[in-house]
Amino acid sequence: MSKTYRFLAVLLILMVSQILMAQNNDNPAAGWLACGGCGFAIVMIVVGLGIAIFLAIWVSRDAKARGMDNATLWVVLVIFLGLIGLVIYLIVRPKGNIIKCPSCQGKRLEGSPKCPQCGNA
Ligand SMILES: [Zn+2]
Repeated sequence: MSKTYRFLAVLLILMVSQILMAQNNDNPAAGWLACGGCGFAIVMIVVGLGIAIFLAIWVSRDAKARGMDNATLWVVLVIFLGLIGLVIYLIVRPKGNIIKCPSCQGKRLEGSPKCPQCGNA
């Protein structure tokens, strides 16, 4: 048995024994609380990840449509700073409406000299 497998086996035994101990608790509410707390943490992580991915995609598309050449940098900033990064982005980004480009149907900033997608005026 390799060291990694032994480590995983010990980890599994620890996890299982913890679950069993939680269920054997005198107070039945404690087990439910522990389980609910765990589920809540998982839901929060999934929701947080979902929001982060959604924001990253939105910022990436918005920054490209506005012709910002550092779109990737803004995506990284929003992922790491979260809501604060988003607020900074909303303040710093070029203001104006996003319109459909008449040439390529892509999104571009209204009044921009050229389309960031196709380069047409
Ligand atoms: Zn275009």
